[in-house]
Amino acid sequence: MVREISAGGVVVRHMENAWWIAVIEPQKDAPPAAPTPSTTPARSRKSQKTLFALPKGLVDPGEKPEQTAVREVREETGVHAIPIAKLADIKYVYVRTWSDHQRVFKIVSFYLLRYQSGHMDHIAPEMRIEVKRALWLPLDQAEKKLSYSNERKVIRLAREYLQSHPEV
Ligand code: ATP
Repeated sequence: MVREISAGGVVVRHMENAWWIAVIEPQKDAPPAAPTPSTTPARSRKSQKTLFALPKGLVDPGEKPEQTAVREVREETGVHAIPIAKLADIKYVYVRTWSDHQRVFKIVSFYLLRYQSGHMDHIAPEMRIEVKRALWLPLDQAEKKLSYSNERKVIRLAREYLQSHPEV
């Protein structure tokens, strides 16, 4: 099976006495992966309205996953963020319905990053092919709003990290 390795970020920012996270509404809404037992469950049915996901992308040759996370966050959301810790690797299988119909086994490494600078959703025009919009969501709502259960798990880990590391 074809493999893809990606990396992404949970960018946190403290504003108005609460934690917020950066999420994207992907432009394309490809159908979810086939629901075979070995594949990770795709989107929950109730989230059909708006697709919310974490920023992420393929690891380039010679790039460390952490660097990919920083780069993809900047490209897809417009903000610059600094890595704090690794949160988790998620895995899923999907079918490339838009091209060769290959089944793809994908691993995405997620990092916790802290907002540093930049304006949310100020992204290059060519990124609009991939990202409809990028926005801040309150961390405690994000867990419900994200479309993929494996990404919701990553948000939970981020919350737990922030609770156990008050110095962040
Ligand atoms: P990347 O963002 O890594 O460059 P991409 O945009 O080409 O990759 P994905 O976002 O992995 O590809 O989307 C490919 C397929 O996988 C789509 O059908 C999408 O619905 C599905 N998918 C995306 N994220 C997840 C996830 N966290 N869990 C399960 N399926 C997912």
